[in-house]
Amino acid sequence: MAHSVYSEREVFLRELVSNAADASEKLRYEALSDEALAAQAGAPLVTISLDKDKKTLTVADNGIGMNREELVSALGTIANSGTRAFLDKINADGGGDKGQSLIGQFGVGFYSVFMVADRVEVATRRAGSQEAWLWTSEGKGSYQIAPAQAEEAPAAGTRVTLHLNAESEEFLDAWRIEQALREHSGALAIPIEIAGAPGEEPRRISDGAALWAKPKSEISNEEYADFYRQLGGQFDEPALTVHWRAEGRTEYTVLAFIPGSRPLDLFDPLRKAKSKLYVRRVLISREIQLLPAWLRFVRLVVDSSDIPLNVSREMVQQSPVVAQIGKAIASRIVQELGKLAEAEPEKFAGLWENFGAVIKEGLHEDPQRRDDIFKLARFASTRASEKTRTLKDYVADLRENQTAIYYLVGDDRKRLAHSPQIEEFSARGVEVLLLDDAVDAFWVTSCVGYEGKPFKSVTQGAADLSLVPLKEGEAEQSAGDASAEVAALATRMKEALKEHVDDVRVSTRLRESAVCLIAPEHGLDRQLARLLAEHGQ
Ligand code: ADP
Ligand code: MG
Repeated sequence: MAHSVYSEREVFLRELVSNAADASEKLRYEALSDEALAAQAGAPLVTISLDKDKKTLTVADNGIGMNREELVSALGTIANSGTRAFLDKINADGGGDKGQSLIGQFGVGFYSVFMVADRVEVATRRAGSQEAWLWTSEGKGSYQIAPAQAEEAPAAGTRVTLHLNAESEEFLDAWRIEQALREHSGALAIPIEIAGAPGEEPRRISDGAALWAKPKSEISNEEYADFYRQLGGQFDEPALTVHWRAEGRTEYTVLAFIPGSRPLDLFDPLRKAKSKLYVRRVLISREIQLLPAWLRFVRLVVDSSDIPLNVSREMVQQSPVVAQIGKAIASRIVQELGKLAEAEPEKFAGLWENFGAVIKEGLHEDPQRRDDIFKLARFASTRASEKTRTLKDYVADLRENQTAIYYLVGDDRKRLAHSPQIEEFSARGVEVLLLDDAVDAFWVTSCVGYEGKPFKSVTQGAADLSLVPLKEGEAEQSAGDASAEVAALATRMKEALKEHVDDVRVSTRLRESAVCLIAPEHGLDRQLARLLAEHGQ
């Protein structure tokens, strides 16, 4: 089963090295408030040792380690039935990319070792502890834990030994390991050494310098992309990478990415924008909320020297410096999005397709950024089947005597484009925005307008278009044209429909279609009314 979860077996290395890097970050954090730990902690290091005779691959770190309880809860769960059921479900769902990112999300990355090993031993010592433990499993639903014998016990940290299976002996070759690591862990913030055979002097293959601390000119696109995948549990390429250092009142470095595809938790009801915060390369929080919810898809790392190291994680979230940094980062990201929209409209269109629905939440929630967001927003309309029209375009192309920005909200812009409600608008060449994201029903009501033009739903009341000239070849029609028979029909329909409608009117807004539904002039837009009804309001 483990074979199908990851398409490439070598990712087990990335999982182990990233756990080792996490463990060293945790130790550095605890050492901040524990002098004894600080005195013992060595420079972070991962050592990979190979033994061709024993067919073992060992990944050792000098990080935080685990006590017995932690070992049970962290690694025991991989063998318990709930996790297995979960993994089997991923397997049943087809595994592949989806399975991979699910694994990242649910933190069962360690399990990937059983793709390449028949048996795995984890010898570990919690930092500062006298005791060391040995966990052993064959990945078949059970495990053993015993005190580690003196010769098995690591002096510090954790040692994971894989007894490689027959199909995985390639990983006994140092060059193969190096190649796999370069591919997957080039951007990991921990130095890595490799010893190709027992007794061989370890060789350093990665310096572990934090990527964000390096000058941009020294970082390749692949390194950025690698780092992004590590950071966000994504498996794609970033759509936008922004890396900058702010100097001035507060100093910090930011490395931010906009994903190339929608993260799985994009519409999670908690709507948390989780970022990683480092203070002088010490990881303080992996899920600090720096950005507003409508930028929650941005994956970022910020490292600042201006945040006090001795405050608790909870305090950091409340810190005014953090709030100020978050604001500045949000501004910069909005600015970069604007630049991308100018310079690479097609790329931006893809990004907007993925995240526009989330960014538009900001129109409703973040009135101060409304103008900025309006600049970014791209709409489909009766003039553009894809989301390419800006409000600026719309206003520039207003028809003579047109006083409002008209829109129609629904679930599917292709269907909206054929809606009877817009017939009269088309006859007069009045553009109608076709809004098909759920969030659209909300912001159109909370935003007063754009450049003095109110937003107006075409389903609402009697739109007065009579002053807008007709397009060539279109004829004026008036309610007066309606015959007595049509008026009688309207009365009959009203009687038949009873309380289901407020009114049935003879209208000039239709040209091709026989009837359409509209909302009362001062009532809720039809789509909004439907949404509220769905939510039981
Ligand atoms: P994740 O890293 O996403 O939490 P993993 O399956 O990779 O999920 O690891 C599960 C847990 O096992 C980790 O959260 C950590 O508590 C523990 N762990 C794994 N490897 C190590 C290690 N080298 N040092 C200390 N703890 C570790
Ligand atoms: Mg992990």
